Amino acid sequence: MGLRIHFVVDPHGWCCMGLIVFVWLYNFFLIPKIVLFPHYEEGHIPGILIIIFYGIAMFCLVALVRASITDPGRLPENPKIPHGEREFWELCNKCNLMRPKRSHHCSRCGHCVRRMDHHCPWINNCVGEDNHWLFLQLCFYTELLTCYALMFSFCHYYYFLPLKKRNLDLFVVRHELAIMRLAAFMGITMLVGITGLFYTQLIGIITGTVEFV
Ligand SMILES: [Zn+2]
Ligand SMILES: [Zn+2]
Repeated sequence: MGLRIHFVVDPHGWCCMGLIVFVWLYNFFLIPKIVLFPHYEEGHIPGILIIIFYGIAMFCLVALVRASITDPGRLPENPKIPHGEREFWELCNKCNLMRPKRSHHCSRCGHCVRRMDHHCPWINNCVGEDNHWLFLQLCFYTELLTCYALMFSFCHYYYFLPLKKRNLDLFVVRHELAIMRLAAFMGITMLVGITGLFYTQLIGIITGTVEFV
């Protein structure tokens, strides 16, 4: 798997990715501040759960950066076409380059990508042969993180004992409901969306329309 650095110049993609990074930062700082640390201090949860939260959050960010800056499988200007495969290659009528079967031209990136799955604005990159696995890793960690946050939001309201020493400074009061709604919204969206995505990817792998090399 080639992990060449690659950067897509697309303001629309930067906005989408900026939104994702904002949501991540918001959750990363406020879930521990509002939920995890106060319940830890009152002995409701062990410290290891806080470490696990930070661990998954960091895996998630690293996966996002890797999926975003890895070359998805861009075709070179003068590709070496293996002898036996000449008949399977075709000319792209947009960039005038030869490409193998199942490559597609991405109009956002402006070039052809081997085994292109789709262009994902949330990572501001195409998902193709070389970063497909990284994209699935990102989906997995995102789903894990949102489920984790969703579970703690639920426990905070319905399961844990109420906090005795409630930190009622204005900042926390202002952000508590917002972050819980955001965590709940993200958790539910991810559960539905990414479970659907995993299903279609799995079917793709089984039927051979998606492959890993
Ligand atoms: Zn092309
Ligand atoms: Zn693209």
